Amino acid sequence: MYFAVSNSLNAKLKTKKSKLVSLLLDWFSKSARDLPWRRTRDPYAIWVSEIMLQQTQVKTVIPFWNRWLRELPTIEAAAKAPSEKIHKLWEGLGYYTRVRNLQKAAQVIVEKHKGQFPKNFDEVLALPGIGRYTASAICSIAFNQPTPILDGNVIRVLTRIFGIEKNPREKETNRLLWQIAEELVCRAKHAKAAKGKISSRTSRTSREINSCSFLNQSLMELGALVCTPRNPQCLICPVKKVCIAFKENRTEELPNLDKRAAATARHFVAFVIESEGKFFVRQRPEKVVNAHLWEFPNFEINGGKQGAEEIFESAFGFEAAAFQPLRTIKHSITRYRITLETFRVRLSKFPKMPEGIWLAPKEFDSVAFSSAHRQLTKFLT
Ligand code: SF4
Repeated sequence: MYFAVSNSLNAKLKTKKSKLVSLLLDWFSKSARDLPWRRTRDPYAIWVSEIMLQQTQVKTVIPFWNRWLRELPTIEAAAKAPSEKIHKLWEGLGYYTRVRNLQKAAQVIVEKHKGQFPKNFDEVLALPGIGRYTASAICSIAFNQPTPILDGNVIRVLTRIFGIEKNPREKETNRLLWQIAEELVCRAKHAKAAKGKISSRTSRTSREINSCSFLNQSLMELGALVCTPRNPQCLICPVKKVCIAFKENRTEELPNLDKRAAATARHFVAFVIESEGKFFVRQRPEKVVNAHLWEFPNFEINGGKQGAEEIFESAFGFEAAAFQPLRTIKHSITRYRITLETFRVRLSKFPKMPEGIWLAPKEFDSVAFSSAHRQLTKFLT
């Protein structure tokens, strides 16, 4: 079955891939958004943008990227920065494993590559926190190498354009999509459309030909702005002439993805413990979600029968002088929908506490909190 599908798609690809590449490059050269990381070819800056953009929207990333490059302008600076600093610079972006891997990779580059970001694809792929997509994105954008990219956006664009009906998460269909992405970027390497048409908006620092970079970025851009999951803008789409989903009115059906697992509800209580104007916080341990970030002590209570005061007393071994509800914060981490009920607990004196520190409100900004707990600090004065 795979060969039948593959042959059929290869035949379609042969007839339209040149046209598609040309349409994409032409559109991107005229319409690309002016994003700060598109003004540079520095692989470090591009790498930081790619890591930040994982699971995160462009408009959220821009101020974080600017701040990171200002504070840590080189790979050496990122490699040497204290853990507290990199977490603080990442605070609010979530998925903090990304920033720890970024620093580990910077340290590898300093040790193994004399501080120069490697140009070889396999060496890039070997760095901590860099998978096939990210390695390809960096090599194509920074070095104009014909390395293919495939993420959720590109899968959506390609399955629609080529009318791929099978589930793109299945191994063979996924392999086929990588193959198409590779054919497109290799074809772009020699595309005439890239010559002379790339506007200065998309390449402010260089007029040299960036056709592999632009082809990959055009696929990302089309998926983000035009070929969106719902209500794709087919009528203004630059590739509608070659799109099977548009021609056959099948944009709603493609890509053919499994239904996602339902979200799981989780319920926590958090204690904002106050004594003499200071608040008790502790740091999350290694190897858990939000590791290294600071938070108010909290406990999961799914299905438990104990009330919040009982949980507090059994956790800390002493009674509160005053105990009152503060706020309920709802937020999501991956597929978990979390309800965090918070309580303000006043103590008459500093008790002996397990590991943690006491902070005055003016010191809250000196450490990195997870986002729900950062919200909580805003209610404390
Ligand atoms: Fe997507 Fe519609 Fe463009 Fe096809 S024509 S690529 S479905 S936006």
